[in-house]
Amino acid sequence: MYRIYLRDFVYNQKSEVIQTVAERVLDEYGSAAAFDDFVREDDPETVRDVLLDFGGVGPKTADCVLLFAGGREGVFPVDTHVHRIYRRLGVAPPDADHEGVREVVERDVPPEKCGFGHTASIQFGREYCSARKPACLDGAEECPMADLCDRVGVDADAGAAVDPAEASEK
Ligand code: SF4
Repeated sequence: MYRIYLRDFVYNQKSEVIQTVAERVLDEYGSAAAFDDFVREDDPETVRDVLLDFGGVGPKTADCVLLFAGGREGVFPVDTHVHRIYRRLGVAPPDADHEGVREVVERDVPPEKCGFGHTASIQFGREYCSARKPACLDGAEECPMADLCDRVGVDADAGAAVDPAEASEK
């Protein structure tokens, strides 16, 4: 019952944000097509700042708009999977927040690979490097990235994984 209530609450909140953003787009840009042109053609940092200024739009959503709607290269949205995986691998510092991980991957991944990197990382996080039970807990051979991974926060002996930030505090 509580979960149904919570789900409805989240859906209502999302639809309110979408309506508010759509009204603002029409007020400030005149049409959806004009806003699309802005997203595709203006300076990416400017577009990002404008999107973040819309209430209810966070960094991941803004970056997804830039990447998927704007077709911008060099944008690597950081969702919960990307945030976890690149800190476990040791590519980003264990205590990096979402923006810290974004800084590292956008610096190191070729711009034309960022979109693929984002979607492939999400799939990899679902299929192999999940939050509570990364595949390597069943043996390194279970993960194709094991040779390259620092496994930060993964305790094979205890058969458990914690957020890399928690592991770095110990
Ligand atoms: S070796 Fe483990 S921690 Fe590293 S990427 Fe694979 S599943 Fe994730």
